[in-house]
Amino acid sequence: MERDQRKVVLVGTGMVGMSYAYALLNQPVCNELILIDIDRKKAQGEAMDLNHGLPFAQSHMKIRAGDYDECADADLVVICAGVAQKPGESRLDLLQRNADVLREIVQPIVASGFQGIFLAATNPVDIITHIIRDLSGFPPERVIGSGTTLDSARLRYMIGEYFHIDPRGVHAYVVGEHGDSEFVPWSQALIATKSVLELCEEAVGGCQFCDLQAIGEQVRTSAQKIIEAKKATYYGIGMALVRITKAIFDDENSILTVSVLADGQYGLRDVYLGLPAILNRGGVRSILNLNLLDEELEQLAQSAKTLKEFYAQLKI
Ligand code: NAD
Repeated sequence: MERDQRKVVLVGTGMVGMSYAYALLNQPVCNELILIDIDRKKAQGEAMDLNHGLPFAQSHMKIRAGDYDECADADLVVICAGVAQKPGESRLDLLQRNADVLREIVQPIVASGFQGIFLAATNPVDIITHIIRDLSGFPPERVIGSGTTLDSARLRYMIGEYFHIDPRGVHAYVVGEHGDSEFVPWSQALIATKSVLELCEEAVGGCQFCDLQAIGEQVRTSAQKIIEAKKATYYGIGMALVRITKAIFDDENSILTVSVLADGQYGLRDVYLGLPAILNRGGVRSILNLNLLDEELEQLAQSAKTLKEFYAQLKI
Protein backbone atom coordinates (compact mmCIF):
# COMPACT_ATOMS: atom_id res chain seq x y z
CA MET A 1 0.00 0.00 0.00
CA GLU A 2 1.25 3.48 -0.83
CA ARG A 3 1.12 5.55 2.35
CA ASP A 4 -0.92 8.43 0.92
CA GLN A 5 -3.50 6.27 -0.84
CA ARG A 6 -6.52 5.15 1.16
CA LYS A 7 -8.87 3.45 -1.24
CA VAL A 8 -11.83 1.50 0.14
CA VAL A 9 -14.09 -0.75 -1.90
CA LEU A 10 -17.40 -1.35 -0.13
CA VAL A 11 -19.38 -4.42 -1.22
CA GLY A 12 -23.00 -4.24 -0.09
CA THR A 13 -24.72 -0.87 -0.01
CA GLY A 14 -27.52 -1.83 2.38
CA MET A 15 -28.15 -0.35 5.82
CA VAL A 16 -24.82 -1.49 7.31
CA GLY A 17 -22.73 -0.63 4.27
CA MET A 18 -24.24 2.82 3.89
CA SER A 19 -24.01 3.58 7.61
CA TYR A 20 -20.30 2.82 7.27
CA ALA A 21 -20.05 4.99 4.12
CA TYR A 22 -21.90 7.87 5.77
CA ALA A 23 -19.72 7.67 8.89
CA LEU A 24 -16.61 7.59 6.63
CA LEU A 25 -17.81 10.72 4.86
CA ASN A 26 -17.90 12.55 8.18
CA GLN A 27 -14.33 11.72 9.19
CA PRO A 28 -11.08 12.25 7.31
CA VAL A 29 -10.21 8.54 7.08
CA CYS A 30 -10.08 7.54 3.43
CA ASN A 31 -9.78 9.41 0.13
CA GLU A 32 -11.50 7.07 -2.32
CA LEU A 33 -14.66 5.02 -1.83
CA ILE A 34 -16.07 2.64 -4.44
CA LEU A 35 -19.57 1.24 -3.93
CA ILE A 36 -20.49 -2.20 -5.28
CA ASP A 37 -23.84 -3.94 -4.94
CA ILE A 38 -25.66 -6.67 -6.83
CA ASP A 39 -28.28 -3.93 -7.25
CA ARG A 40 -26.07 -1.62 -9.36
CA LYS A 41 -28.69 1.10 -9.55
CA LYS A 42 -28.82 1.31 -5.77
CA ALA A 43 -25.03 1.64 -5.58
CA GLN A 44 -25.17 4.43 -8.18
CA GLY A 45 -27.93 6.27 -6.30
CA GLU A 46 -26.06 5.95 -3.01
CA ALA A 47 -22.86 7.34 -4.61
CA MET A 48 -24.78 10.35 -5.95
CA ASP A 49 -26.43 10.98 -2.59
CA LEU A 50 -23.12 10.81 -0.68
CA ASN A 51 -21.35 13.03 -3.21
CA HIS A 52 -23.95 15.74 -2.67
CA GLY A 53 -22.93 15.86 1.00
CA LEU A 54 -19.25 16.43 0.19
CA PRO A 55 -19.42 20.25 0.33
CA PHE A 56 -20.34 19.91 4.01
CA ALA A 57 -18.02 17.00 4.85
CA GLN A 58 -14.76 16.61 6.78
CA SER A 59 -13.27 14.50 4.01
CA HIS A 60 -12.27 14.96 0.38
CA MET A 61 -13.31 11.51 -0.76
CA LYS A 62 -13.79 10.52 -4.37
CA ILE A 63 -16.97 8.44 -4.31
CA ARG A 64 -18.41 6.40 -7.16
CA ALA A 65 -20.23 3.17 -7.92
CA GLY A 66 -17.95 0.63 -9.55
CA ASP A 67 -17.14 -2.96 -10.28
CA TYR A 68 -14.79 -5.60 -8.90
CA ASP A 69 -11.88 -4.52 -11.14
CA GLU A 70 -11.67 -1.46 -8.84
CA CYS A 71 -10.27 -3.79 -6.15
CA ALA A 72 -6.98 -4.15 -8.09
CA ASP A 73 -5.41 -1.10 -6.38
CA ALA A 74 -7.68 -0.91 -3.32
CA ASP A 75 -6.20 -0.91 0.18
CA LEU A 76 -9.27 -2.25 1.95
CA VAL A 77 -12.32 -4.20 0.82
CA VAL A 78 -15.18 -4.00 3.30
CA ILE A 79 -17.86 -6.65 2.89
CA CYS A 80 -21.33 -5.78 4.18
CA ALA A 81 -23.29 -7.69 1.52
CA GLY A 82 -25.74 -10.31 2.56
CA VAL A 83 -29.08 -10.98 4.03
CA ALA A 84 -29.93 -9.29 7.31
CA GLN A 85 -31.00 -11.09 10.45
CA LYS A 86 -34.77 -11.55 10.84
CA PRO A 87 -36.52 -11.16 14.23
CA GLY A 88 -35.93 -14.30 16.29
CA GLU A 89 -33.31 -15.63 13.88
CA SER A 90 -29.87 -16.37 15.33
CA ARG A 91 -26.80 -15.16 13.49
CA LEU A 92 -25.78 -18.70 12.85
CA ASP A 93 -29.10 -19.36 11.05
CA LEU A 94 -27.87 -16.94 8.43
CA LEU A 95 -24.80 -19.02 7.81
CA GLN A 96 -25.43 -20.93 4.65
CA ARG A 97 -27.40 -18.15 2.94
CA ASN A 98 -24.57 -15.68 3.43
CA ALA A 99 -21.82 -18.21 2.69
CA ASP A 100 -23.32 -18.61 -0.77
CA VAL A 101 -23.30 -14.82 -1.32
CA LEU A 102 -19.64 -14.74 -0.31
CA ARG A 103 -18.53 -17.11 -3.02
CA GLU A 104 -19.88 -14.73 -5.71
CA ILE A 105 -18.01 -11.80 -4.14
CA VAL A 106 -14.57 -13.05 -3.11
CA GLN A 107 -13.67 -14.76 -6.38
CA PRO A 108 -13.78 -11.59 -8.58
CA ILE A 109 -12.01 -9.56 -5.88
CA VAL A 110 -9.07 -11.98 -5.83
CA ALA A 111 -9.13 -12.21 -9.65
CA SER A 112 -8.72 -8.40 -9.81
CA GLY A 113 -5.24 -8.75 -8.25
CA PHE A 114 -6.34 -7.20 -4.93
CA GLN A 115 -3.42 -7.07 -2.47
CA GLY A 116 -5.00 -5.25 0.44
CA ILE A 117 -6.96 -6.17 3.56
CA PHE A 118 -10.41 -7.77 3.77
CA LEU A 119 -12.74 -6.49 6.51
CA ALA A 120 -16.08 -8.28 6.89
CA ALA A 121 -19.25 -7.33 8.77
CA THR A 122 -21.69 -9.79 7.18
CA ASN A 123 -23.14 -12.19 9.75
CA PRO A 124 -22.36 -14.65 11.17
CA VAL A 125 -19.25 -12.53 10.98
CA ASP A 126 -16.70 -14.94 12.50
CA ILE A 127 -17.59 -17.74 10.13
CA ILE A 128 -17.98 -15.40 7.15
CA THR A 129 -14.47 -14.06 7.83
CA HIS A 130 -13.15 -17.61 7.98
CA ILE A 131 -14.81 -18.36 4.63
CA ILE A 132 -13.23 -15.23 3.09
CA ARG A 133 -9.85 -16.47 4.27
CA ASP A 134 -10.50 -19.90 2.74
CA LEU A 135 -11.80 -18.52 -0.55
CA SER A 136 -9.10 -15.85 -0.92
CA GLY A 137 -6.09 -17.79 0.35
CA PHE A 138 -4.90 -14.50 1.91
CA PRO A 139 -2.70 -14.59 5.04
CA PRO A 140 -4.82 -14.34 8.21
CA GLU A 141 -3.40 -10.95 9.19
CA ARG A 142 -5.09 -9.51 6.08
CA VAL A 143 -8.52 -11.07 6.63
CA ILE A 144 -10.38 -9.49 9.55
CA GLY A 145 -13.98 -9.46 10.75
CA SER A 146 -15.68 -6.77 12.82
CA GLY A 147 -15.95 -9.49 15.50
CA THR A 148 -16.98 -8.18 18.91
CA THR A 149 -15.78 -4.61 18.28
CA LEU A 150 -19.36 -3.31 18.44
CA ASP A 151 -20.21 -5.53 21.43
CA SER A 152 -17.17 -4.20 23.31
CA ALA A 153 -18.29 -0.65 22.50
CA ARG A 154 -21.77 -1.44 23.85
CA LEU A 155 -20.15 -2.89 26.99
CA ARG A 156 -17.96 0.16 27.58
CA TYR A 157 -20.95 2.45 27.08
CA MET A 158 -23.07 0.49 29.59
CA ILE A 159 -20.28 0.23 32.21
CA GLY A 160 -19.73 3.96 31.76
CA GLU A 161 -23.43 4.62 32.37
CA TYR A 162 -23.43 2.36 35.46
CA PHE A 163 -20.42 4.03 37.09
CA HIS A 164 -21.10 7.51 35.62
CA ILE A 165 -17.74 7.44 33.84
CA ASP A 166 -16.91 8.51 30.28
CA PRO A 167 -16.79 5.21 28.31
CA ARG A 168 -13.37 6.21 26.98
CA GLY A 169 -12.03 5.64 30.53
CA VAL A 170 -13.52 2.13 30.58
CA HIS A 171 -11.34 -0.73 29.35
CA ALA A 172 -13.31 -3.92 28.92
CA TYR A 173 -13.90 -6.50 26.22
CA VAL A 174 -16.54 -8.82 24.89
CA VAL A 175 -14.76 -11.84 23.41
CA GLY A 176 -15.63 -14.97 21.47
CA GLU A 177 -18.35 -15.38 18.86
CA HIS A 178 -20.17 -12.22 17.76
CA GLY A 179 -23.39 -13.88 18.84
CA ASP A 180 -25.05 -15.99 21.49
CA SER A 181 -21.89 -17.52 23.02
CA GLU A 182 -19.99 -14.23 23.40
CA PHE A 183 -19.12 -13.20 26.97
CA VAL A 184 -17.37 -10.60 29.12
CA PRO A 185 -14.17 -11.70 30.90
CA TRP A 186 -14.83 -9.50 33.92
CA SER A 187 -11.38 -10.21 35.38
CA GLN A 188 -10.04 -7.96 32.58
CA ALA A 189 -12.50 -5.05 32.99
CA LEU A 190 -10.93 -1.82 34.25
CA ILE A 191 -11.95 1.75 34.97
CA ALA A 192 -8.75 3.68 34.45
CA THR A 193 -6.39 1.12 36.09
CA LYS A 194 -8.84 -0.04 38.76
CA SER A 195 -10.43 -3.49 38.36
CA VAL A 196 -14.22 -3.37 38.07
CA LEU A 197 -14.38 -6.55 40.20
CA GLU A 198 -12.43 -4.78 42.96
CA LEU A 199 -14.88 -1.89 42.78
CA CYS A 200 -17.64 -4.46 43.33
CA GLU A 201 -15.84 -6.06 46.28
CA GLU A 202 -15.49 -2.62 47.83
CA ALA A 203 -19.15 -1.93 46.88
CA VAL A 204 -18.08 1.47 45.51
CA GLY A 205 -21.23 3.42 44.66
CA GLY A 206 -23.31 0.35 45.62
CA CYS A 207 -21.79 -1.64 42.75
CA GLN A 208 -22.73 -5.34 42.78
CA PHE A 209 -21.51 -8.21 40.62
CA CYS A 210 -25.09 -9.21 39.75
CA ASP A 211 -25.50 -5.77 38.10
CA LEU A 212 -22.39 -6.43 35.99
CA GLN A 213 -23.79 -9.80 34.95
CA ALA A 214 -26.99 -8.04 33.90
CA ILE A 215 -24.92 -5.60 31.83
CA GLY A 216 -23.17 -8.54 30.12
CA GLU A 217 -26.57 -10.03 29.30
CA GLN A 218 -27.86 -6.67 28.00
CA VAL A 219 -24.84 -6.42 25.69
CA ARG A 220 -25.37 -9.97 24.43
CA THR A 221 -29.04 -9.35 23.62
CA SER A 222 -28.70 -5.77 22.30
CA ALA A 223 -28.82 -6.71 18.62
CA GLN A 224 -32.04 -8.74 19.01
CA LYS A 225 -33.70 -5.90 20.95
CA ILE A 226 -32.76 -3.33 18.29
CA ILE A 227 -33.93 -5.67 15.51
CA GLU A 228 -37.27 -6.16 17.30
CA ALA A 229 -37.65 -2.39 17.59
CA LYS A 230 -36.41 -1.20 14.17
CA LYS A 231 -35.76 -4.32 12.08
CA ALA A 232 -31.98 -3.95 11.77
CA THR A 233 -28.89 -2.54 13.48
CA TYR A 234 -26.55 -0.36 11.48
CA TYR A 235 -25.28 2.92 13.00
CA GLY A 236 -23.16 1.27 15.70
CA ILE A 237 -21.59 -1.25 13.33
CA GLY A 238 -21.03 1.50 10.75
CA MET A 239 -19.00 3.47 13.29
CA ALA A 240 -17.17 0.34 14.48
CA LEU A 241 -16.10 -0.36 10.89
CA VAL A 242 -14.82 3.21 10.52
CA ARG A 243 -12.86 2.81 13.77
CA ILE A 244 -11.21 -0.35 12.41
CA THR A 245 -10.55 1.35 9.06
CA LYS A 246 -8.86 4.27 10.82
CA ALA A 247 -6.73 1.94 12.97
CA ILE A 248 -5.48 0.30 9.75
CA PHE A 249 -4.96 3.41 7.59
CA ASP A 250 -3.37 5.47 10.37
CA ASP A 251 -1.04 2.57 11.28
CA GLU A 252 -2.27 3.03 14.85
CA ASN A 253 -1.34 -0.24 16.55
CA SER A 254 -4.69 0.11 18.31
CA ILE A 255 -6.31 -2.74 20.21
CA LEU A 256 -9.79 -3.75 19.07
CA THR A 257 -11.71 -6.99 19.51
CA VAL A 258 -11.87 -7.86 15.82
CA SER A 259 -12.49 -11.36 14.51
CA VAL A 260 -9.09 -12.97 13.99
CA LEU A 261 -7.74 -16.44 13.30
CA ALA A 262 -6.52 -17.90 16.60
CA ASP A 263 -3.11 -19.48 16.28
CA GLY A 264 -2.49 -21.09 19.66
CA GLN A 265 -3.65 -18.11 21.77
CA TYR A 266 -5.86 -19.27 24.67
CA GLY A 267 -5.26 -22.85 23.50
CA LEU A 268 -7.33 -22.18 20.34
CA ARG A 269 -6.47 -22.90 16.72
CA ASP A 270 -8.17 -22.82 13.31
CA VAL A 271 -11.08 -20.70 14.45
CA TYR A 272 -11.99 -17.07 13.77
CA LEU A 273 -13.44 -15.27 16.80
CA GLY A 274 -13.41 -11.91 18.55
CA LEU A 275 -10.19 -11.39 20.50
CA PRO A 276 -8.25 -8.25 21.41
CA ALA A 277 -5.81 -7.72 18.56
CA ILE A 278 -3.29 -5.03 17.65
CA LEU A 279 -4.20 -3.44 14.30
CA ASN A 280 -1.98 -1.45 12.00
CA ARG A 281 -1.36 -0.79 8.30
CA GLY A 282 -0.47 -4.45 7.76
CA GLY A 283 -3.73 -5.65 9.35
CA VAL A 284 -3.40 -7.78 12.48
CA ARG A 285 0.03 -7.30 14.08
CA SER A 286 -0.70 -9.79 16.86
CA ILE A 287 -3.39 -11.16 19.14
CA LEU A 288 -3.14 -10.22 22.83
CA ASN A 289 -2.84 -13.05 25.32
CA LEU A 290 -4.81 -11.83 28.34
CA ASN A 291 -4.52 -13.56 31.73
CA LEU A 292 -8.02 -15.03 31.70
CA LEU A 293 -9.33 -16.98 34.69
CA ASP A 294 -9.83 -20.72 34.22
CA GLU A 295 -13.62 -20.34 33.97
CA GLU A 296 -13.19 -17.59 31.36
CA LEU A 297 -10.84 -19.79 29.34
CA GLU A 298 -13.50 -22.51 29.50
CA GLN A 299 -16.19 -20.08 28.25
CA LEU A 300 -13.92 -19.00 25.39
CA ALA A 301 -13.27 -22.64 24.48
CA GLN A 302 -17.04 -23.26 24.43
CA SER A 303 -17.61 -20.27 22.16
CA ALA A 304 -14.85 -21.48 19.82
CA LYS A 305 -16.38 -24.98 19.83
CA THR A 306 -19.78 -23.56 18.77
CA LEU A 307 -18.17 -21.71 15.88
CA LYS A 308 -16.10 -24.71 14.80
CA GLU A 309 -19.18 -26.94 14.79
CA PHE A 310 -21.14 -24.58 12.54
CA TYR A 311 -18.15 -24.00 10.30
CA ALA A 312 -17.78 -27.77 9.87
CA GLN A 313 -21.40 -27.98 8.61
CA LEU A 314 -20.74 -25.50 5.81
CA LYS A 315 -20.72 -26.28 2.14
CA ILE A 316 -18.16 -23.82 0.81
P1 NAD B 1 -29.30 -5.06 3.80
O1 NAD B 1 -30.25 -6.09 3.31
O2 NAD B 1 -29.79 -3.69 4.10
O3 NAD B 1 -28.09 -4.92 2.75
C1 NAD B 1 -27.45 -6.00 2.16
C2 NAD B 1 -26.98 -5.53 0.80
O4 NAD B 1 -26.20 -6.60 0.23
C3 NAD B 1 -28.11 -5.20 -0.18
O5 NAD B 1 -27.93 -3.91 -0.71
C4 NAD B 1 -27.98 -6.30 -1.24
O6 NAD B 1 -28.37 -5.87 -2.52
C5 NAD B 1 -26.48 -6.59 -1.17
N1 NAD B 1 -26.14 -7.90 -1.75
C6 NAD B 1 -26.76 -9.09 -1.58
N2 NAD B 1 -26.15 -10.04 -2.29
C7 NAD B 1 -25.10 -9.45 -2.91
C8 NAD B 1 -24.08 -9.92 -3.78
N3 NAD B 1 -24.02 -11.19 -4.17
N4 NAD B 1 -23.17 -9.03 -4.23
C9 NAD B 1 -23.21 -7.73 -3.85
N5 NAD B 1 -24.15 -7.23 -3.03
C10 NAD B 1 -25.09 -8.09 -2.56
O7 NAD B 1 -28.62 -5.71 5.10
P2 NAD B 1 -27.83 -4.91 6.24
O8 NAD B 1 -28.77 -4.53 7.32
O9 NAD B 1 -26.98 -3.88 5.59
O10 NAD B 1 -26.91 -6.08 6.84
C11 NAD B 1 -25.82 -6.58 6.08
C12 NAD B 1 -25.09 -7.66 6.87
O11 NAD B 1 -24.46 -7.08 8.02
C13 NAD B 1 -26.02 -8.75 7.42
O12 NAD B 1 -25.38 -10.01 7.28
C14 NAD B 1 -26.17 -8.38 8.87
O13 NAD B 1 -26.51 -9.48 9.70
C15 NAD B 1 -24.78 -7.88 9.16
N6 NAD B 1 -24.60 -7.09 10.39
C16 NAD B 1 -23.45 -7.27 11.06
C17 NAD B 1 -23.22 -6.60 12.25
C18 NAD B 1 -21.93 -6.86 12.99
O14 NAD B 1 -21.74 -6.43 14.14
N7 NAD B 1 -20.99 -7.56 12.38
C19 NAD B 1 -24.17 -5.69 12.74
C20 NAD B 1 -25.33 -5.50 12.02
C21 NAD B 1 -25.55 -6.21 10.84
